[in-house]
Amino acid sequence: MNDIIIVGGGPAGLTAALYAGRAELKTILIEKGFQGGQMVNTNKIENYPGIKEITGHEISKDMFEHAKEFGAQILFEEVLDIQIEDNIKRIITSSKTYESKALILSMGTKSRELGLENEQELVGKGISYCATCDGGFYKDKVVAVVGGGDAAVEDALYLSRIAKKVYLIHRRDSLRSAKYLQKKLFESSVEILWDNKVTEFYSQDMLTGIKVANTKNHNTMDLDIDGLFIAIGGIPTSNIAKDLLELNTEGYIVTDENCLTSVEGVFAIGDVREKQLRQIVTAVADGAISIDQAQRYLYRS
Ligand code: NAP
Repeated sequence: MNDIIIVGGGPAGLTAALYAGRAELKTILIEKGFQGGQMVNTNKIENYPGIKEITGHEISKDMFEHAKEFGAQILFEEVLDIQIEDNIKRIITSSKTYESKALILSMGTKSRELGLENEQELVGKGISYCATCDGGFYKDKVVAVVGGGDAAVEDALYLSRIAKKVYLIHRRDSLRSAKYLQKKLFESSVEILWDNKVTEFYSQDMLTGIKVANTKNHNTMDLDIDGLFIAIGGIPTSNIAKDLLELNTEGYIVTDENCLTSVEGVFAIGDVREKQLRQIVTAVADGAISIDQAQRYLYRS
């Protein structure tokens, strides 16, 4: 029987694995994709204390190796279901069922889609949700980014160093992103289309352009672009927990300030839990808190 199973290997999960391993708890972390979660898609991280600048890929690799060094077992499998009986947590993956005394959920978020016709068909054919992954395909081409948060502004700045022309399309007249990013954006070559939303994709197998509509005067215009990067936030990956725990109306897992969910011995950490500030630094803090709390739970039960 494992002491702890952690589902999801982003910064929160990897930190929990590090702390659990260091506390000599028998621990498994199960990740369905690649270690690092959304962090791996970030080109440049410059707000993690003590590290002036690092890529998402580098910090993901470092956190993964750090967790492994302290003895956490890390498996790459997809969790399909979770069952709890007599306080035993059963985690069912595509290949096996794992059991533990405590469970830590750190599945993060996945990219929100615009929800327009043909969006999924055009992924990889001009539409992307990850500028760091796919930006390199657009050298000297014309691209647009949708969104007004940190991710959209960072993506637009990153792409402006690769593409010939970058538009940032935002549905309002002010950005949500941090001021220091806004300053960089306003000093860059990125053209901002304020008060606009994408309403249609044009394609001939590959994306060739988009229709945008002004949200105030409803005027529309066509833009010829080679690539569209959609960075309009995330939706919580909480589906496997929806019948077990309390979720809020947006699907985030409700916890107390110590990351405890509505079920004893089950903790939620990082972006998947209801919170105000979703950053790497708050995710890793959750990871540490959850192991402290899990130990209190394990030694009590
Ligand atoms: P976000 O902060 O939730 O911003 C989403 C943006 O997309 C908002 O500007 C929103 O517009 C817009 N949007 C949402 N739905 C839309 C739709 N259907 N159509 C058009 N626009 C839509 O998401 P994020 O930028 O991905 O950031 C997520 C979290 O990660 C945040 O906490 C952020 O601080 C953090 N993050 C941090 C960094 C960093 O610190 N370096 C980098 C990336 C992300 P409105 O503004 O009108 O609502």
